[in-house]
Amino acid sequence: MIETVLFDLDDTLLDFHRAEKRAITRTMRECGLEPDEERVALYSRINREQWKLLERGLITRDEVLTRRFSLLLEALGAEGDPRAMRAIYERNLSEGHFFMPGALETLDRLSLKYPLYLVSNGTARVQDGRLRSAGILPYFREVFISERMGYVKPQKEYFDCCFAVIGEDRRPGAVIVGDSLTSDIRGGINAGIHTVWYNPEGKPADPDTPAEVTVRALSELEEALERL
Ligand SMILES: [Mg+2]
Repeated sequence: MIETVLFDLDDTLLDFHRAEKRAITRTMRECGLEPDEERVALYSRINREQWKLLERGLITRDEVLTRRFSLLLEALGAEGDPRAMRAIYERNLSEGHFFMPGALETLDRLSLKYPLYLVSNGTARVQDGRLRSAGILPYFREVFISERMGYVKPQKEYFDCCFAVIGEDRRPGAVIVGDSLTSDIRGGINAGIHTVWYNPEGKPADPDTPAEVTVRALSELEEALERL
């Protein structure tokens, strides 16, 4: 029986894709680079690759945050200061938010039944701003931002730090709900907790990272948790 729910933030409750697109478009403009679909997609791809390297422990968070801009500038053959660009981007990203469909209704309903926690690999200052802007902090007993913990999802140590706060006795009845197989579902498996993969785009499953349950919409989540 599920007694505790750990929610991922980006692309699970908040639409990171949309927020990223807006933030990088503004950042390019502020840095004198004309933004277009292709350039935005290029940034997005570079950024994703860097986060995957962090999940695998191959580079540090600080390297991710700056390197994505040095790689972007290099790919565009443009002059610029990656550190300055990073600061502008982080400011833009921390302002505003977009919800995933059904996110607020889901938090409303589930928070009446379970203690909720937030588990995010994002940057602390950026996530603080987005959470404040979205007004969803009151739903959560605790917010675990990896930058403040010294570990990232999917590391087992990340979840050990979470359960040191939540209570070890709650681990058997805990579930992680997230959109990423590599950080959320792999992390849940490493932590020995239940896993729900939120897969709105119907991406193919990965037999090496099997989620216990897959939902296509957040509106399916309440029922799915009852079945676990
Ligand atoms: Mg996510």
